[in-house]
Amino acid sequence: MNFRQRIAQFMYGRNGYDAFCQFLLLFAIFLILLSWVFSGIPALAMLMQVGEWAALGYCIFRMMSRNVLQRQQENAKYYEKRQAVGRWLRSLRDRWQQRKEYKFFRCPSCHALLRVPRGKGKLLLTCRKCGNRFERKT
Ligand SMILES: [Zn+2]
Repeated sequence: MNFRQRIAQFMYGRNGYDAFCQFLLLFAIFLILLSWVFSGIPALAMLMQVGEWAALGYCIFRMMSRNVLQRQQENAKYYEKRQAVGRWLRSLRDRWQQRKEYKFFRCPSCHALLRVPRGKGKLLLTCRKCGNRFERKT
């Protein structure tokens, strides 16, 4: 049996490398870079080193784990969070791009985001989500 086959046999039935592992590795690398930046502050650098080892250890644990179902559920949760962050970043970008034509308000009762054209004076706004009405200057 050659080395590749031995590795394949060892990894059989284990979770292996997935997107959440990739994130943990990138997070560990980010902490390594950050600990270099803060090397002048030993307590902070040490805290980051603890974080590096925790992220690396958890990544290795997840790759070697035989509880594949549990690891897949964690990976799915990670995907959900990543998509939520992506949606939030896109909404920030859209608001920034539209800032000259539109004003954005939060509904005081349900916190939904409302987009209103600028320069229309005082308007009575109606929230599309909950129907709450409130006045704002555009
Ligand atoms: Zn509302």
